[in-house]
Amino acid sequence: MMSMSSPDTTRQDESTTPATPKVCPECGGSGWHMVMVEHRGRQVEQATRCECIRRQQGSRLLEAARVPRRYRHCELSNFEHEGPFRSLARAHFAAMRFVEEYPLQDDGLLLVGSIGTGKTHLAVGILKELIAQKSAHCLFYDYRELLKEIQNSYNDSVKVTEMDVLRPVFDAEVLVLDELGAAKPSEWVWDIVSHILNTRYNDKRTTIITTNYSDDPSLMNKEETPARRATRDETLGDRIGDRMRSRLHEMCRVVRVEGEDFRMKFKSAGKGERTPFS
Ligand SMILES: [Zn+2]
Repeated sequence: MMSMSSPDTTRQDESTTPATPKVCPECGGSGWHMVMVEHRGRQVEQATRCECIRRQQGSRLLEAARVPRRYRHCELSNFEHEGPFRSLARAHFAAMRFVEEYPLQDDGLLLVGSIGTGKTHLAVGILKELIAQKSAHCLFYDYRELLKEIQNSYNDSVKVTEMDVLRPVFDAEVLVLDELGAAKPSEWVWDIVSHILNTRYNDKRTTIITTNYSDDPSLMNKEETPARRATRDETLGDRIGDRMRSRLHEMCRVVRVEGEDFRMKFKSAGKGERTPFS
């Protein structure tokens, strides 16, 4: 039997192979170039880091972030937020402010909204800006993909342990966890989610989360019967557990990314973040 490919090799084919490196015309490949600076009233030569080093570092960080090919084009600058839906403009603004304030403000972001509103686009855009502007070490993971990789690691024929998969997720300076709650909930899923979120919370690491599930607590009623529960839409609490939902609120600022925000009322910028979903 063919051995199962490790998560790394399945992702490898998505990454762009760097072209044969050309020698930088600015520094001749040394990474340094001389500039004239003023020193005690005289012009003197000084060695400075060449811009190509920063660019190389940026592309290495970007590759290490493992953004899937289908999202590679996503930038904050090409996020479409004009039109009738003001929540998109607000979300875009929140994303830009987040980048600006990082790392002074170490709260993460919880991007909540229905399918197709551009949450992942924003999350990837933020990640790319954090790499370009702040040289942050980022990692992108699709929630279901992550659970699959962890599950795969239990397979004896795979030489990857659960910790091999989780370690980078715990350690990433900034983690994007896309589509939180998208996998069918189970005890195991809840354990994994709480392990990840609690670890990152305790280590004060920044986590950016997208989810299609409403996190509106007013939809959840502790005394509700299973029958009542079945008649309403599932919430984020239903999908990852209420404790983890509250944990998320402690580690993230909530940003609504909705295409139909005429249904929502916002109290004021920044303070209306916990207003009901509908
Ligand atoms: Zn150079």
